[in-house]
Amino acid sequence: MTDKIQLLHGDITKIKADAIVNAANSSLLGGGGVDGAIHKAAGYQLLNECKLLKGCKTGEAKLTNGYMLPAKYVIHTVGPIWSGGYNNEANLLQSCYLSALTIALDNKFGKIAFPNISTGVYGYPKKEAASIAINTTIDFIKKHEYPKQIIFALFDNENLALYNEILVKYNCDFLKNY
Ligand code: ADP
Repeated sequence: MTDKIQLLHGDITKIKADAIVNAANSSLLGGGGVDGAIHKAAGYQLLNECKLLKGCKTGEAKLTNGYMLPAKYVIHTVGPIWSGGYNNEANLLQSCYLSALTIALDNKFGKIAFPNISTGVYGYPKKEAASIAINTTIDFIKKHEYPKQIIFALFDNENLALYNEILVKYNCDFLKNY
């Protein structure tokens, strides 16, 4: 079952997949971090399509084309801003992963890639975010046929270490040279 999960140390915009997930903000009109990188790599047509979506609520997700990205589609989700854990952040973060996975299931996407949602400028503690991401994903893939392969794109060394620590017992593939 967890042979469906792979770890990649690097840039999500380089991944050839059915979809990559974007940690967007609620306007869906681009921003910094992974959002900025995805918009830059996808080109102006992504912003044009995003403008038609009229934003996205925290914990929800919306689908667009991938344009100039190697990935065919982008699943935009809006992570919670960490505010001490008193604002339902854990449920909202879990909902981001579930909403994105459900879009992948509905569209029969074989391969999707996640960034570490909310762990950049949104300030979610990385350890807690990693266990939510991994537990939610493993639960989902136990129950559903799609997606068939999930890549966690780990950009910073702290997330890389955390995901390795949690997933080591599952013997996940580590994708190199991306
Ligand atoms: P958020 O606002 O949800 O916190 P950020 O983009 O600030 O989103 O950060 C989310 C995570 O994405 C961080 O762990 C950051 O290291 C990572 N990240 C930034 N750029 C990229 C990229 N090009 N590919 C993959 N992950 C990235």
